[in-house]
Amino acid sequence: MYVLKTPVPSEALAIGQAFVVTRAEMQSVEVTLPEAFAQAEGQLTQLSGQHEVFAAHLEILQDPLLQESIEDFVSNGCDVLTAVERTSEMLATQFEEIDDEYLRARADDVRDVCRRLLACLQCAADNPFKHLPAGSVVVAEELFPSDTASIDLSKSVGFVTAKGSRTSHVCIIARQHGIATMVGVEGAHRFIHMGDRLILDGKGGQVVVNPDEATMDEYRKRMAQHQQMPSVAEQLAASGRRVRLFANAGCVDDVRDAVDAGFEGIGLFRTEFLFLNTKQAPSEEEQYEQYRMAAEWCGDRVLTIRTMDFGADKPLPWLPLSVQENPFLGLRAVRIALKHTDLFKAQLRAILRAALYGNVRVMFPMICQMDEIRQCKALLRVCKDELAAEGTPHAEDIRIGMMVETPASVMLAKEFAREVDFFSIGTNDLTQYLMAADRGNPDVAYLYDAMNPAVLRAIGQVTAAAHEVGCEVCLCGELAADANATQTLLQLGLDSLSV
Ligand code: PEP
Ligand code: MG
Repeated sequence: MYVLKTPVPSEALAIGQAFVVTRAEMQSVEVTLPEAFAQAEGQLTQLSGQHEVFAAHLEILQDPLLQESIEDFVSNGCDVLTAVERTSEMLATQFEEIDDEYLRARADDVRDVCRRLLACLQCAADNPFKHLPAGSVVVAEELFPSDTASIDLSKSVGFVTAKGSRTSHVCIIARQHGIATMVGVEGAHRFIHMGDRLILDGKGGQVVVNPDEATMDEYRKRMAQHQQMPSVAEQLAASGRRVRLFANAGCVDDVRDAVDAGFEGIGLFRTEFLFLNTKQAPSEEEQYEQYRMAAEWCGDRVLTIRTMDFGADKPLPWLPLSVQENPFLGLRAVRIALKHTDLFKAQLRAILRAALYGNVRVMFPMICQMDEIRQCKALLRVCKDELAAEGTPHAEDIRIGMMVETPASVMLAKEFAREVDFFSIGTNDLTQYLMAADRGNPDVAYLYDAMNPAVLRAIGQVTAAAHEVGCEVCLCGELAADANATQTLLQLGLDSLSV
């Protein structure tokens, strides 16, 4: 028996058998670069009969410069996916700098060809979780939200990773599925072996490897007690206050499960998960289908659809961004949406159309500036006008909200509250930005605490400012789901929690 420590505390408490995967297994794509080229070539040859743009793409793909640049990045230490992303940006930028309109426009073609290549590479990767036994604890250096698509979550009781934070998106997905998750466990993937018996003790910040029988007995007792702690729902009911309890969802199945479990609505539908495991952006029609189904499941209950929140720890394989020095301070969320308005408008149109089928509201993430929320509202207006002009049925009145997850939005809460119908406080990001502590870095996990007085005071100030002008306030960060925080949150006057 031995113990591995983490500086990142959590609620995790579980017992299971280790299933260790290495990053090399998860990204076993290096051998498939030629295969990916061949696959992309096959696709483009077929498509080039349909439109001349694909014939141009085929030429770009067949230009030896493309493969040589990727191989150069690989020989300089990049993995293949990063090498393709960097090549894409490098070549596209070269085109953009040319003083000729026609050639400048080729930058987008290069990006598109590289996106196709990335999609082929990712499909080629084998699924290392294919043989996951029931009752497993997945152990890895790092996991990403897209990895969860390959994992049969019903077979996994826990995740243990060396990197990441409590609020990294893979943890959020895991917790929504009742999977105990421990991150920042240094060397986990090296010191834990396939089949080891593990105890995940989040409060104690430790993973016990191959415990003796006495330790096992102690933890079995703790697990029985843990199940008896009053839940968030029980505490809200006992408080006698009218604080609504919503659920967070990442897909239509989560929405259905939340409705079946009796939640009063969906306070946060993270739409970006619909985009993460696809070869290209889902079309307006595909998104409309998903949102309509979610709205129908909710019926009269609120469905809060948050627009695309990519970037940082939710990268998109088909939308390579230039390398960002500080991804969490870079191009992410609404900043990407306002830069790629074609993608954004397709999503807004899909939401407006689906809103006819339920009680839908729309919400924008990572707002910092008044101009951003106004641009979002203006685009929503444009989408409504376009739909009306085409005669496409859609909702005219849709409530508009924004996430409060940046210090700027806290400081300007009163002004923002006049622009929207509701706020949703995202403590996962708000904590990292207020405490200047990366949500994914175990070394600063001691600072990353949503119960820090600075964060709690910000929640109280935002709620009071919003209420002065009649704007509703929800809290949808992971703090809302922490039963130890419920009594504190009740004091802060929130209208709803989304867990
Ligand atoms: C948050 O930041 O608190 C939030 C709910 O958004 P996400 O975790 O998806 O960034
Ligand atoms: Mg956030």
